[in-house]
Amino acid sequence: MRNFLIAGNWKMNRNAAETATFFNELSADLKKVPNGVDVLICPVYTSLQAAVETSSKINGFKIGAQNMHFEDSGAFTGEITADMIRETGADYVIIGHSERRQYFAETDETVNKKTIKAIDKGLIPVICVGEHLSERKENKHFDVVKHQVVEAYKNVATGDVSKTVIAYEPVWAIGTGETATSEQAQEMHRFIRSEMEKLYDANTANAVQILYGGSMKPENAGELLECEDVDGGLIGGASLKPDSFLKMIKTASELKK
Ligand code: PEP
Repeated sequence: MRNFLIAGNWKMNRNAAETATFFNELSADLKKVPNGVDVLICPVYTSLQAAVETSSKINGFKIGAQNMHFEDSGAFTGEITADMIRETGADYVIIGHSERRQYFAETDETVNKKTIKAIDKGLIPVICVGEHLSERKENKHFDVVKHQVVEAYKNVATGDVSKTVIAYEPVWAIGTGETATSEQAQEMHRFIRSEMEKLYDANTANAVQILYGGSMKPENAGELLECEDVDGGLIGGASLKPDSFLKMIKTASELKK
């Protein structure tokens, strides 16, 4: 069966010193990532090194970046390559977060290029998809998410799908305090898995982790993680404090027993 993945997206928060403090506090209560649960934090680039070093006190803890460029080098001021992220010791990278799509001109095409490059370089891409509120109101949410998934996985080989993660993040639920109901989350996760089965095959679709993202917090993590096709969370605000992040790791590990 699939492991849960409890993933924190720190966005533009926590410098290197604050990152070290977070992991010093967390490691006082967590020595090892629980069985059946993968745990990941994605800090800002300048905190990656500190995160890799200070999270090493927690056995099995993973670190990731929040974005990358799809080229290997060149005149791309302000950008970073997959190799540079790997050099810090990070293993994951978030691709196509809705804030990147909304504010930084990320497109389905660049998401696909980045996905392919990340896999090629040994980084696990956490590919974000999700509809805007207006699209849900117009009943277009399944079409929107299907399109994003199909485009992201263009030219991704069957054998590489297990090296990827999908995060369903309804844009209207990110940072708003508004959460999708567990029924809405399960319905979309099942839909995404069925689309992956059409693109690939049942085994591949059943193996891929599909995370929910959008105001997940300790109070609602249990009911979301209980859904059959919800394999974890991509968590913004509630991942910034060690105690709240730890509660969600514990919820996931209880559900795995
Ligand atoms: C996110 O950053 O992907 C996210 C889901 O944020 P929040 O949990 O704060 O809604």
